[in-house]
Amino acid sequence: MTKLLHRTIGSTMPRAVAGEGIYITDSEGRTYIDGSGGAAVSCLGHNHPEVLDAMKAQMARISYAHTSFFTTDVAEELAEQLVELAPKGLDYVYLVSGGSEAVEAALKMARQYFVEIGQPNRRHIIARRQSYHGNTIGALATGGNAWRRAQFRPMLPETHHVSPCYAYRDMQVGETPVAYGERLAAEFETKIIELGADTVMAFVAEPIVGATLGAVTPVAGYLKLVRQICDKYGILLILDEVMCGMGRTGTMFAFEQEGIIPDLMTIAKGLGGGFQPIGAVMLSETIYRAFAEGSGLFQHGHTYIGHPIAAAAANKVVEILRRSETLKNVVRMGERLQVGLDAALGQSAYVGDIRGRGLFRGIEIVANKDTKEPFDPARRINSRIKKEAMQRGLMCYPMGGTIDGVHGDHVLLAPPYIIEAEQIDMIIDRLAAAIDAAVAG
Ligand code: PLP
Repeated sequence: MTKLLHRTIGSTMPRAVAGEGIYITDSEGRTYIDGSGGAAVSCLGHNHPEVLDAMKAQMARISYAHTSFFTTDVAEELAEQLVELAPKGLDYVYLVSGGSEAVEAALKMARQYFVEIGQPNRRHIIARRQSYHGNTIGALATGGNAWRRAQFRPMLPETHHVSPCYAYRDMQVGETPVAYGERLAAEFETKIIELGADTVMAFVAEPIVGATLGAVTPVAGYLKLVRQICDKYGILLILDEVMCGMGRTGTMFAFEQEGIIPDLMTIAKGLGGGFQPIGAVMLSETIYRAFAEGSGLFQHGHTYIGHPIAAAAANKVVEILRRSETLKNVVRMGERLQVGLDAALGQSAYVGDIRGRGLFRGIEIVANKDTKEPFDPARRINSRIKKEAMQRGLMCYPMGGTIDGVHGDHVLLAPPYIIEAEQIDMIIDRLAAAIDAAVAG
């Protein structure tokens, strides 16, 4: 009997005993293709020898030094690498231990920035419905994932939500993508005016919505309009790249494909590639200067920020991501994945939409393709797909509540960037069989 409080109590899960490349092996000797990188984490697969060596070397030097006493070479190098990689405008790095911590820190940076520059009235956060920014209280309040928020709502700080950019369901018949983006931008601006423009602190969004909607990309121009509106009212733009960043969509950061630069950006998952828990906030020179020339500090901190072994792992992961072949493979294999999914599932009566970028793809499951009607949530189609896929040796990331927190199902795929063509084809075959079995069951 387990003494662990598992995510779901009473479910029997296989025990992972080994990982190699894109595969995980359990204690019964079964292997699974890690088609989702866990939750879009294992960007370089498992047991990458170079990352392991970097961690071991750091352990042999020093494993821990509290950041109020010391800095370390690895943490400094990681910050340098990230700043070199990111577009100008993301000029400094704050290290944390995961995605939720990164979002919490970004929110507090936004608030402190306005206090430092003499606008203490700015306090409101606007984010989008059907988004996820983490499970700690501030991040959960910011996210618009109705299901995850529901029972904790009474204790969440007040936040405000506007519509997601979800063209498959919300773009009206006859409406162009440009007009749809403009409609959403107008809704955002109306919300700012309603709250009082000088009271709004930040707009928070995932450039490509991951777990909640299943790799939903924004319509062209939408995020540019959002950036313009933020600038117009002096509001900070926080982009959450925890899931879609670090090369997942074919560019190092997903926002680069939208022609904008945020004021603050959060990264995690692919930063440590699952080898170590690590996240980061990247911030603009303007925000940094406000702290430096104001109170001289960022009033925050956790015991494990800038952890040397985590920084060593991330340093090596980032170095590998920067090699030209790594992201080229994301683009190439991503295209193969989309084309293959279209061919295998495009005609399925139960597949409404196949979307995404790079090695970040989503498949929306529907009961009726013409009306886009979802399955009855009681059928738990997403859990069935997960189970059927695991039985076929495939890890994918299905989720329910796609439409409103209750209705809708999708599957997210986010395989490691080292994946090869025939392994992509195996993912597609196994997933197609799992969806058929789940719907038939
Ligand atoms: N932000 C986004 C976009 C995420 O997808 C996640 C996790 O799935 C988080 C934040 C929270 O990250 P973590 O689970 O590392 O706290």
